[in-house]
Amino acid sequence: MPGFGQGFGNGLLPQPLVFAKIIVSGLINYASGGNGSFSPVNCAIASIFDEGANVNGTAGTCCQDEYSYQAHYNQLLFHLNSLILMNELCNRVLNGFVVANTVDHFDVYIVRAIVSQHQVKKMSMKVAKWYNNKDIRIEEMPTPKPGSFEMLVKVIACGICGSDIVEWYRLPRAPLVPGHEIGAEVVEVGESVKKFKPGDRVFIAPKVPCMQCDYCRREQYPLCSAIKERLPGGFAQYVLVTPALIENGAYHLPNNITYDQSTFIEPLACVVRAQRLAGLQEGQTVLILGSGMSGLLHVKLAVANNCRVIATDINTMRLERARSLGAQLVINAADGNFEERLLEENQGPADAVILCTSALTAIDQAWKCLDQGGAIVFFAVPDPDKTVTIPINELWTREIRILTSYYCGPPDIIEAIKLLESGAVKVDGLITHRLPLEYIQTGFRLVEDGRESIKVIIQPNL
Ligand SMILES: [Zn+2]
Ligand SMILES: [Zn+2]
Repeated sequence: MPGFGQGFGNGLLPQPLVFAKIIVSGLINYASGGNGSFSPVNCAIASIFDEGANVNGTAGTCCQDEYSYQAHYNQLLFHLNSLILMNELCNRVLNGFVVANTVDHFDVYIVRAIVSQHQVKKMSMKVAKWYNNKDIRIEEMPTPKPGSFEMLVKVIACGICGSDIVEWYRLPRAPLVPGHEIGAEVVEVGESVKKFKPGDRVFIAPKVPCMQCDYCRREQYPLCSAIKERLPGGFAQYVLVTPALIENGAYHLPNNITYDQSTFIEPLACVVRAQRLAGLQEGQTVLILGSGMSGLLHVKLAVANNCRVIATDINTMRLERARSLGAQLVINAADGNFEERLLEENQGPADAVILCTSALTAIDQAWKCLDQGGAIVFFAVPDPDKTVTIPINELWTREIRILTSYYCGPPDIIEAIKLLESGAVKVDGLITHRLPLEYIQTGFRLVEDGRESIKVIIQPNL
């Protein structure tokens, strides 16, 4: 007899014992004609749930003594699961009740009605559907059922990324369920999935490259033309993980990485890649323009790699945060004499500049504060309707490298997991808000506003 863990106990039903009690008392009530006593007729119904009962309609063992909820509830859950599967095949749901195929079997009708109410509960989940930053709706969607090569994960934590609030980037695909910084627990696996089992703690990447095309062979994973994307996203109670994602986009979480910390894996992986592209070496100076969530992660990684860090922003709270994380010099980007101050206080230009803001003024500052032979990395970019003027003549003679960095690849994700696991990059101090799914609109407002938040995490199953 399967135990609790294989039935509803996978977290899909919050209070199984209460549920079992409702079912049992509902059956007893129905079968006894409402007076609480047992008759041969009610045993036919009770027997559906109890293998020990006599299925011919005469009194079964379950009815001879007082019914023990505790002793039978595991059994009930198992049978109810089977009934749900049966129901899926032969009935349709009307307002939460199932229309029985025949009214002759009224007992089955009742059982199915009870089951179907819970079927509706089990088969649907809450998701946050994004129409734009001001219009995010909590909607019900069918909970996906994993096929043989798929698995279902329960989202425990999902971070709101700076890119989630960039409307020009997201709107062409709206409405959509966003969320790509996912820490989750495996709740169901298809029979052919061997890599994971229910209960495993995982990080699920938003996209996986094919690992075979020319781009992938050159480690330009974000350019892979056969990239597989996970949709819907992590602002949902459950996420279906497809075979390609299981193969190359799902990672076991080490025990000492919490679900909240796991929401930093993807952004940190992007930061790892950007700094690698910049060729940043130990002892070099990096200027990080913009000290929001991604800017601060850049500060943390550069400090961990023993680089000298200069951070800027126009928000003093963020500048203080950058300083407390180890930036040697912080400068308010709104100050009139920004470039002079930087060159003076740093005693020279930076070896690399990483742009973590979409502000056009920051790009001008980048050219002026970068040493010859250095690299400028566009980690964030201005809106598409903005034009960036490049002083190419000047940059040409100074051999400045202009780079872009978009997303990350599997090696970067592995590196990010190692950095979090070892404690080389600590992220707990960056978490400012944890919110249930229903408050996601507030979460987006906090990230968009940016004055009081750094990292906002949504917990869809709170
Ligand atoms: Zn992101
Ligand atoms: Zn590829």
